[in-house]
Amino acid sequence: MQYANRQIANLLHSDLNEVYLFHGTRKDRVNVLLHNGFDLRLAAMNFKSLWLGAGVYVADEANLSAQYTERNGVCTIFVMRVCLGDVFTTKTHMTDLKRPPCKSFCNGICTQHKDFFDSVVGEFPQREFVVYDDAKCYPEYVIQYQVVQSPPDHKGGYY
Ligand SMILES: [Zn+2]
Repeated sequence: MQYANRQIANLLHSDLNEVYLFHGTRKDRVNVLLHNGFDLRLAAMNFKSLWLGAGVYVADEANLSAQYTERNGVCTIFVMRVCLGDVFTTKTHMTDLKRPPCKSFCNGICTQHKDFFDSVVGEFPQREFVVYDDAKCYPEYVIQYQVVQSPPDHKGGYY
């Protein structure tokens, strides 16, 4: 029975474009995120500006997410379950975004259309996906790892 529940829990909803993506974070944020989830009101707190505005940033390449961790000691990356829905793709920085663009591609904040994209992906060139609603992402797994540095007298051989 437990196995059956696990299978259901792990099922991704393709109709919502639900996927697993990575989110790297700093040590002091891990427990807060696990207990309280993501708080978009604090999204820009640790960054002067975010390329795609105030949202939760996730990536399909773990090495990009690793850049948001400490990079020494024990690092943490969440494996996030994310509902991307309809994705707006851009190669341009859109730092003022507070939600995805409307499907009529209005400039600025749209107040006249009702259909909006559900998420944004920036190709810079590595892909960063952003959702602007914390209900669309869930930190399902925690990966903790430590980068082992080569000793200073390392001569390039493997041992
Ligand atoms: Zn519009």
